[in-house]
Amino acid sequence: MACSFVFKWGENMNYDQLYELQSLKLRREAMEKSYPKEREVKLRRRKQELLAEKRDLILLEEKLRMHIKDIHKLQDEKETILEEIARINEDLYSNKFTAKELTSMQNRLENLESTLANRHNRIEKENAMIVAKRADLKEKKNSLVDRMKDYEAKVEEYLQERNRLLEKLKQMDEQIQEFIMMLNVEDRVFYERESGKYGIEMLSILKKGRFCSCCSMLLESDTIFAVKAESVGIRCQSCGRVIYNLEE
Ligand SMILES: [Zn+2]
Repeated sequence: MACSFVFKWGENMNYDQLYELQSLKLRREAMEKSYPKEREVKLRRRKQELLAEKRDLILLEEKLRMHIKDIHKLQDEKETILEEIARINEDLYSNKFTAKELTSMQNRLENLESTLANRHNRIEKENAMIVAKRADLKEKKNSLVDRMKDYEAKVEEYLQERNRLLEKLKQMDEQIQEFIMMLNVEDRVFYERESGKYGIEMLSILKKGRFCSCCSMLLESDTIFAVKAESVGIRCQSCGRVIYNLEE
């Protein structure tokens, strides 16, 4: 209480103003608490999910490409077989070979035709699979694009809301600073000391004419009397805050 020797409280104290400042700071605090932090966390999580999905789709696309390559290989094999069949057919009617050789060529031809039928079936089957996979991939991609758009709209909405809030907070901070500058010396010393000790809610008021508004303690009758008589510097016997005569 060193200050009370320097400043004699009383005539210049303006509790109305200090209380107004306190209310302003409480409003600012409530506004800051309304900052949509949870939404920010949710959005960040959503982004991670979408990116993971995108990575999966890229992998699926890569797999599809490999699958198509395999089919191309099968088709090349089919071409090679067809060429060999054509060659053998030519040789069979060329009169250049012995009966034994012709038999062996005939056998080879049968083998090749069976392999060709096998390749043909596999290619048909694989092609059908590719068509299904491609359709599935396209559907997944479209769905992802839609959800990405939805996510981006939500981010935009969130950013706008956040910026509005930050702008309001900035305005309030300026307002509070101006308010503090306008306080007289006594009030400012009081404000700095008390808010250093009690935080934003440094000034208490009479609640229902009997209670401390901050700690809800029932006040002693002397205290109540003094506060109602507008004496300066009367404190709550429980939390120690100065009580200001403003009935709620
Ligand atoms: Zn109290």
